[in-house]
Amino acid sequence: MFADRLRRLRERMAAAGVPALLVTDAAGCFYLSGLTGGEGTVVVTREAGYLLVDPRITCQAREEVGHLEIKEFRGSLYGALEQLAAGAGITSLAFEAANLSVQQADRLKEKLPGITCVPVPEILAELRQVKEPEEIERIRRAAAITDAAWDEIRPEIAPGLTEKEVAGWLEYALRCHGADGYAFPTIVASGPRAAMAHGTAGERRLRPGDLVVVDMGAVYQGYCADLTRTVVAGKPDARQREVYAAVKRSGETALALAAPGVKTDFLEQVAREVLKEYGLEEYFGHRLGHGVGISVHEGPSFSHEASVELVPGMVITIEPGVYIPDWGGVRIENLVLVTASGSEVLSRAVEGWGE
Ligand code: ZN
Ligand code: ZN
Repeated sequence: MFADRLRRLRERMAAAGVPALLVTDAAGCFYLSGLTGGEGTVVVTREAGYLLVDPRITCQAREEVGHLEIKEFRGSLYGALEQLAAGAGITSLAFEAANLSVQQADRLKEKLPGITCVPVPEILAELRQVKEPEEIERIRRAAAITDAAWDEIRPEIAPGLTEKEVAGWLEYALRCHGADGYAFPTIVASGPRAAMAHGTAGERRLRPGDLVVVDMGAVYQGYCADLTRTVVAGKPDARQREVYAAVKRSGETALALAAPGVKTDFLEQVAREVLKEYGLEEYFGHRLGHGVGISVHEGPSFSHEASVELVPGMVITIEPGVYIPDWGGVRIENLVLVTASGSEVLSRAVEGWGE
């Protein structure tokens, strides 16, 4: 699996004229090395691959990583890079621009004066967009864990509980169903707070008739799930039902068109058109979706400028939302696998009011 990843990465490096690539971000490091915990640095050249770790990690690295040459270093990573470059004959080192701050990039150039350090577009991130069968299985499992936690706790969501209590019960259920961790802190936004697309769970107590937006995800063997459901604490009123139906139709319409060859911004446009029919489009203030994998937010992008053509093996979310100030919000998010013939919804959690 790793040999194949490295082979595909090297093809891309060759095409981009990159002789050696430095990977410092935790997700990229895990993808190329399999090292858990996110405390390594990977350097890939056309012929070799290295994992740089400090002495705390060496034992673990030897156990988890068999396909890269493990280089233990004490002190500065820059010193280790310099030594590695001298030994391996590296004179030019590329790094993914999106993964290094301006300050980090400046420091890299300053500390490695003998090596040309060049920012490159996201060649590794692009590779990660298309999942291998093994990765899809892990995401499938993360989604199943998330669905099970939601289905278990949803009927308990009732007036009187605080948002933090609801988040706590959900996170406990995720663990009980087998999550290794959480893709992000569980979002529970109730009542008028549901109008905030990313309202973190607070002290607010749920009141009868509140809309409650819950966004959550398990991590399983390094891979994330991402799920949003919206419920009402008590009975939904007519307006809540109407907005919910609009958001649901918006997502379903986009989903029906999700297939290889379709561009992500087209799906978003379709979802927006549906909300427009209900006069709700202006309240949809974020992208329709994003890719999910080792990171909960990764490629493909749904933005108009960086829109991507879907290919089989991509895992994306479709998550239309409507947020009306002082009223509340509704978001429905499903995890979707792009298949050879169309798409498959991985999220099976109960939707709607559960009536
Ligand atoms: Zn989400
Ligand atoms: Zn999402």
